[in-house]
Amino acid sequence: MSDGTIATNGSGKDSQPQVENVIVVGSGPSGFTAGLYTARANLNPLLITGNDYGGQVSITYEVENYPGFPDGLSGPELVEKMKEQAEKFGTRIEFDYVTEIVTERRPFVVRTASGKEYETKSVIVCTGASPRYLNVPGEKEYTGRGVSYCGTCDGFFFRGKDVVVVGGGDSAVEEGLFLTKFATRVRIIHRRDELRASKILQHRAFANDKIEFVWNTVVTEITGDAEGKVSGVKTKDTVTGEEGFLETDGVFIFIGHLPNNELLQGKFHLDGDGHLITDSKMRTNVPGVFAAGEIMDKVFKQVATSVGQGCAAAMQAEKFLADLEDEGFPGFEDPREFVRVEGMVV
Ligand code: NAP
Repeated sequence: MSDGTIATNGSGKDSQPQVENVIVVGSGPSGFTAGLYTARANLNPLLITGNDYGGQVSITYEVENYPGFPDGLSGPELVEKMKEQAEKFGTRIEFDYVTEIVTERRPFVVRTASGKEYETKSVIVCTGASPRYLNVPGEKEYTGRGVSYCGTCDGFFFRGKDVVVVGGGDSAVEEGLFLTKFATRVRIIHRRDELRASKILQHRAFANDKIEFVWNTVVTEITGDAEGKVSGVKTKDTVTGEEGFLETDGVFIFIGHLPNNELLQGKFHLDGDGHLITDSKMRTNVPGVFAAGEIMDKVFKQVATSVGQGCAAAMQAEKFLADLEDEGFPGFEDPREFVRVEGMVV
């Protein structure tokens, strides 16, 4: 929805028009790293956090595989350290949500939920991903009443209770292990008879007395009691088709994530799963717009890889801006004048 009007940064009509060098969209590990690197490159970046401040790692109880922290640290602690480091070098942080990136004109215009508009020469998209839903009856109805997507946030409420976890990846097993701190029993329901989770997590889960596995099973419905709280899950055996019911107080769902691409639809090239497509230099199909983290990564999805991608995207944005400056910002009103897309994979 580009209306072609000139934005005034940070907005109000009275504020001085000022074009940002780079706006980072998102505040997960890739976003803060992009902020850090562009700040150290003297680009005075603006980072707009989005609604899920810190991204997925901020709801992770313990991060044990991020190098440099041999004793591990909590997700929120890591996020705060990343934020502090990005700010230390000058990243400006706005707690707001980007609703639109206007790419049909240069500079780009970034609009936010609070009604602000920013002009910017480049953008680094780090919008991450959100939990995938089961899409079964009862899931929406009982969310917050026994259905949860975050063990770290809600585990405490299940002290002395029975819970089930749905999924077989790292998240399901890691969160299942975390939930044993509170629940009397944690049953992990997986649609196959083999976990996708890493071996180290598998070993821990198999060794934990409170964890049981329900193999070859999917949840077909979440049921509730008279008080409107979860009472159990209806299940189906994926091999025999046999239907069943497991009584439980809580259902924790960890069946993967979907890229947060709402903002990008229609103007950016996305793959079949909705990830933003970039080339090896983190460039999207729109010159001047780069991406990092789980919005573009469908393979690795680790804090360490997101950080690396954020760094790479920032370095490319810096190079893009330096090239623009060398050319005296040609064609700022017409992006086609300085479009360079060699090597772009779309
Ligand atoms: P994931 O690896 O994609 O695993 C999703 C799991 O949910 C799979 O076991 C999958 O079954 C199952 N599943 C998917 N759709 C389902 C459905 N509709 N019904 C029932 N089950 C369904 O997702 P994740 O566990 O969230 O992990 C995402 C990424 O983050 C991974 O790369 C992971 O390594 C990383 N991560 C790392 C750590 C860590 O290193 N400590 C912690 C958390 C996450 P199938 O196996 O049959 O496909």
